[in-house]
Amino acid sequence: MKNILIVFIFTLLIACGSTQTGSKDKTDKGSRTSSIDPVKNNVKDKEDLNFIKDFAKEYALSITEEDLKKTLYTLASDKYAGRFTGEEGQKKAAKFISDYYKNLGITAANTDGDYLQKIPAEYFNGNAKNASENVVAFIKGSEKPEEYVILSAHYDHLGIKNDKIYYGADDDASGTTAVMEIAEAFQKAVKAGNGPKRSIVFLHVTGEEIGLYGSKYYTEHPIFSLEKTVVNLNIDMIGRLDKKHAENPEFVYLIGADKLSQELHDLSEATNKKYTNLNLDYTYNDENDPNRFYYRSDHYNFAKNNIPIIFYFNGVHDDYHQHTDTADKIRYDLLQKRAQLVFYTAWEIANREKRLVVDKK
Ligand SMILES: [Zn+2]
Repeated sequence: MKNILIVFIFTLLIACGSTQTGSKDKTDKGSRTSSIDPVKNNVKDKEDLNFIKDFAKEYALSITEEDLKKTLYTLASDKYAGRFTGEEGQKKAAKFISDYYKNLGITAANTDGDYLQKIPAEYFNGNAKNASENVVAFIKGSEKPEEYVILSAHYDHLGIKNDKIYYGADDDASGTTAVMEIAEAFQKAVKAGNGPKRSIVFLHVTGEEIGLYGSKYYTEHPIFSLEKTVVNLNIDMIGRLDKKHAENPEFVYLIGADKLSQELHDLSEATNKKYTNLNLDYTYNDENDPNRFYYRSDHYNFAKNNIPIIFYFNGVHDDYHQHTDTADKIRYDLLQKRAQLVFYTAWEIANREKRLVVDKK
């Protein structure tokens, strides 16, 4: 999460209020079984579909506390030295993330096979000394490969200050780890012949802490058409809780879901109700909230291009942007649930018949 308050005022984007209109469940009912071919599975009539295993659930179960913990402890270790944009620790982390995808058999987004999208040093306006890299992997959709669902998280953090490593375990090793685990779940689906209909892009951006540069660069130099990008689900800090939820930790803040697409908000709500039952807190979705979180993480670079987004966030805590944001303080049970929610939401969006409608400006 970027610290400085950004005061872009895109009144066009935010002109529509956040009021929810209508409670009708607009999610595509076919989507829950849409990856199943009735003919291939010898299903005689539609009702039989109800007895078929919920594939989404099967793959979501591969997102486990143990796996998340292992990867997060690695990313938030001394070796990566706080992952400051352009520094050695960030580059080592980029290698770690790239190797992870390679080992899973998930291809690079670049056609030349390189997972790294290189950003020249000058692009960072003096906020970083060296060139840096986004890491981008990709699963090709089975039916609508030219429509893209982008899952993003920034993997850079604040580096070393006054000889102290800023580990950024929550910010945003938690989101980075979640995207990696979600990718593994999708790849399991692919291997079993149940891959997503639309393509999924796993976008690990750099330069977030110094000004949302990695996501800005991606949207200015998109690897996949922005016009065909259906949604951006962005995760920035989902491993902790804030004081407000000390007694009720099974929550996550959702920001932006209804800003461009009512359908996205409704689908997100229905998906959570069906699978994860977290308390979805919309406090920061309020136009008038002074924190203006909608403008403060990478999803905003997609939203300003009229791409519907959801930002998943656990709120701030005492360790926010401190060297004490460490892996031992992460609530891995919550991280698991929230990562599963993002997976299910991506699954529904990727597999539904129709592309999400953008009905707001
Ligand atoms: Zn941050």
